[in-house]
Amino acid sequence: MLKKSYPYYLANQPQQPNTDLAVRDKYSGRIATRVAVPDAKTVEKAIAAAVKATTPMRNFKPWARQAVLRHCVQRFSERRDELAEALCIEAGKPIRDSAGEVTRLIETFQIAAEEAVRINGETLNLELASRLDGYHGYTKRVPLGPVSFITPFNFPLNLVAHKVAPAIAAGCPFVLKPAEKTPIGALIIGEILAETDLPKGAFSILPIDGEHASPLVEDERFKLLSFTGSQIGWDLKARAGRKKVVLELGGNAACIVDADQGSKLKHVVERLIFGAFYQSGQSCIGVQRIYAHDDIYDALKKRLVAATKKLKSGDPKKPDTFLGPMIDEAAAKRLHGWIDEAREAGGKLLCGGKREGNMLQATLMENVPADAKANRMEAFGPFALLQRYSTFDEAIAMVNDSDYGLQAGIFTDSLDHAMRAWNELDQGGVIVNDIPSFRVDSMPYGGGKLSGFGREGIRYAIEDMTEIRLMVMRES
Ligand code: NAD
Repeated sequence: MLKKSYPYYLANQPQQPNTDLAVRDKYSGRIATRVAVPDAKTVEKAIAAAVKATTPMRNFKPWARQAVLRHCVQRFSERRDELAEALCIEAGKPIRDSAGEVTRLIETFQIAAEEAVRINGETLNLELASRLDGYHGYTKRVPLGPVSFITPFNFPLNLVAHKVAPAIAAGCPFVLKPAEKTPIGALIIGEILAETDLPKGAFSILPIDGEHASPLVEDERFKLLSFTGSQIGWDLKARAGRKKVVLELGGNAACIVDADQGSKLKHVVERLIFGAFYQSGQSCIGVQRIYAHDDIYDALKKRLVAATKKLKSGDPKKPDTFLGPMIDEAAAKRLHGWIDEAREAGGKLLCGGKREGNMLQATLMENVPADAKANRMEAFGPFALLQRYSTFDEAIAMVNDSDYGLQAGIFTDSLDHAMRAWNELDQGGVIVNDIPSFRVDSMPYGGGKLSGFGREGIRYAIEDMTEIRLMVMRES
């Protein structure tokens, strides 16, 4: 059961003013709960508190940071069902995907707890010439200071975790703005962080809208902005001044199915269906473009269509629902419009294509023109297209013919093709024998082109949130 209302967090403390925001159940459309909304003065107080917490956080020892992260792991585990239910309601995410995200949340904090005591430096050999005899260099990593975070609606727990957990491990105070469509996950994380002995001001969690979030982007007291979301990220980067910026943005992920996969199509189809349609395709690495070799194209298409038609859609709270609603009607309408446009331009609808409110059917198309929005833009919904290829060069070119470059997948038995894909696909990551939607929370994650700038993954985020400090010592 969700609570009636949720406070926001200012300098580690829950706050419950009168102004609030309704959070709707994304399936029924009913108001599910309310969250307290901070005003502009509160944003300033949060920044000032984070600045004040810089030294206490720097002095908060690695073992103490680890203890905080371990506390979170334990409390998330104890509150697993409540967290999953909150996600299911606020994001419309099917309950089994919601439960899966809670597992990822726990793992992300667990990884950060381990990394918190592994932030190491180097010993440098400086005796490069006789005049340097007796000089030694040592480095350590020190926390950057206050950092700001902005997160999207589609993983309200784990994408918050990917910023918050490394910040605690690194020793950086932070101010987080979760997505206003799905703020509950972040606020429950706040409730659990408030149980710990993190120094005062170490965290604030403010469910404000984008307009009121300008200080998180522009204020020079923040040393880093980490943003996950849409292409708006590039505008924020342009306004971010001297701070470091990490952008985790969208994609239109592609997957190649090679000629030699004929005997493995059952597995390939299971994975492609999952990648294209889990959480209604609202994943930045959801499978959008499937390129299949001529030899297996027809068999793959037949199986994909049959499997897609079997997907159970409806109420995300039911344990057997695979496909729930999209986040809102506007999002479903937008993608539905792209599907219609692709059909008018000569694309063939294989299955799906119908919409009711924010429920869009799982949709497969083929022969979608290369310049159609459904091909070029990020679908971010339950949609995938199929296209045949004859030569491997052609497949590589089709994957690369995109403005995005987050992750790609390839199913192949050929080591040569796997290596070529890794070398030649212009992507942040290439997943061999699985879908581009594969992510483990310790791995480096992020992309190039329009897909982003920098990498997440706990160790990589900690590197971003710390900087090298050198000490040179001369033997006296
Ligand atoms: P969005 O860009 O609309 O919103 C993301 C966050 O930015 C929200 O908190 C929003 O309130 C905030 N925001 C919007 N305008 C702002 C402004 N002017 N100033 C400050 N903050 C502002 O994205 P969304 O619809 O919530 O999420 C979907 C997008 O996120 C998709 O493009 C998806 O691919 C991307 N995404 C990327 C990753 C990744 O790791 N690469 C992961 C998940 C989602």
